[in-house]
Amino acid sequence: MQVNAIAAVAPDQPLERTTIERRDVGEHEVRIAIKFAGICHSDIHTVRSEWGQIEYPMVVGHEIAGVVDEVGSGVSRYKVGDHVGVGCFVDSCRECENCKAGLDNYCLKGNVGTYNATGRDGKPTAGGYSTHIVVDENYVLRIPKNLGLDVAAPLLCAGITTYSPLAHWNAGPGKKVAVIGLGGLGHMAVKIAHAMGAEVSVLSQSLKKKEDGERLGADHYYATSDESTFEDLAGSFDLIVNTVSANLDLAQYLGLLRTDGALVQVGAPEKPIEIPAFALIPGRKTLAGSMIGSIAETQEMLDFCGKHDLGAEVEVISADQVNEAYDRVVNSDVRYRFVIDTATLD
Ligand code: NAP
Ligand code: ZN
Ligand code: ZN
Repeated sequence: MQVNAIAAVAPDQPLERTTIERRDVGEHEVRIAIKFAGICHSDIHTVRSEWGQIEYPMVVGHEIAGVVDEVGSGVSRYKVGDHVGVGCFVDSCRECENCKAGLDNYCLKGNVGTYNATGRDGKPTAGGYSTHIVVDENYVLRIPKNLGLDVAAPLLCAGITTYSPLAHWNAGPGKKVAVIGLGGLGHMAVKIAHAMGAEVSVLSQSLKKKEDGERLGADHYYATSDESTFEDLAGSFDLIVNTVSANLDLAQYLGLLRTDGALVQVGAPEKPIEIPAFALIPGRKTLAGSMIGSIAETQEMLDFCGKHDLGAEVEVISADQVNEAYDRVVNSDVRYRFVIDTATLD
C-alpha cells in the first residue's frame, strides 16, 4: 500500500512530502490509520544527523496515535476501530535476558526502532509522519478512551520517557523532584510527577513559562539563568530529571541533590557530557540515564495517564507547518508538543 508521508531528504534541507510503501498486514500484525504524530526533539536530532549519519530519505515520528483499520488473522489483542499507539520501537529479539525480563526497550540485540532501523522483513522502518503503519500487535499500545488521540500521541515517547525514571526512582509523596527544561518531555515529567504525589520544581532557563508550569502541577519554578538559584537550592532534591536537549554544566545541577540523590539524564545532546568526579563523590550521588520504557511499562503509563486524565499540552499543526515547528522546537519555543494532524497529508 502506498501512503502519504513527510520525509527528511538531507540534514540541512526542509522536510518534504513523499509517498512510502507499507507492507500487507501479516498474521500477527495490525494496520493503524495514524491520526496524530508528535514531533519529538529526537526526530530533529536524527534528521539533522546530530546522532550520526543516517540514510535519506527518512520518515521519522515515534509518537503515534491512531485507529486500527485492519488486523491479521492471528491477532487477538486488537480489533478494527480500537484506539492505539506506537512508540519508539516496533520489535525486539524477544529472546535475550532483557526481553525475557520485560525490559524490551533495553533488548541486548537492540530494539527495532520505529524509524532509522531495519525490520524483521529486512526493510528499513519508517515512522509516524505518515497516514498508516503496520506493526506487530505485541508492540502496539492501547490508548484509554477518555484521552483524545491528539493529546495522547506525545505520551508514546515524552510520556514514557519521563514516567519510567520517575517510577524507577520512586517519585511520590515526600519526595522532592526537579525537572530541568519545560519542553515536550519536561512538561510531561511535571504532570506525571505531580500525579504521583511528589513535590515538583521546574528548573527552566527563564521564568517565561512559570504560570504554565504551575498550572501543569509544579509547586515551585526557578530560572537557571539566575545564579542565586544554585545557591538557594543547594542540597534540596531527591531526584532530578534532566530533559534538556543541549549540554548543561551538570556539576552545577548535581550540587542541588541531597545525599544519595540521583540525577537522571534523559536529554540526549550531540556532544559528550563532562563532569568532575567531585561533583558525585561527596554525598554519594548517582548520575544515571534512562531510555524510553518497555512495552509493558508504556501500557502502565498510558493507563496511569487515563486514570489521572493526563494528556500532553499540544499545538496541532498541518503537514506544511512541520519545518517551522522544527525551528521553534530548537529555539525552545514550544508549548509543549507539536502534533501533526495526518489528515492534512491527504
Ligand atoms: P524540547 O521539547 O526541545 O525540550 C527541551 C527543553 O530543554 C527546552 O524546551 C528548554 O526548556 C530546554 N533547553 C533547550 N535548549 C537549552 C539550552 N541550550 N540550555 C538550557 N536549556 C535548554 O525537547 P524534547 O522533545 O522534550 O526532548 C528533550 C531531549 O530528550 C532531546 O535531547 C531528546 O532527543 C531526548 N529524548 C530522550 C529520550 C530517552 O529515551 N532518553 C526520549 C525522548 C527524547 P526551557 O525553555 O524550560 O529551559
Ligand atoms: Zn522521542
Ligand atoms: Zn532482546
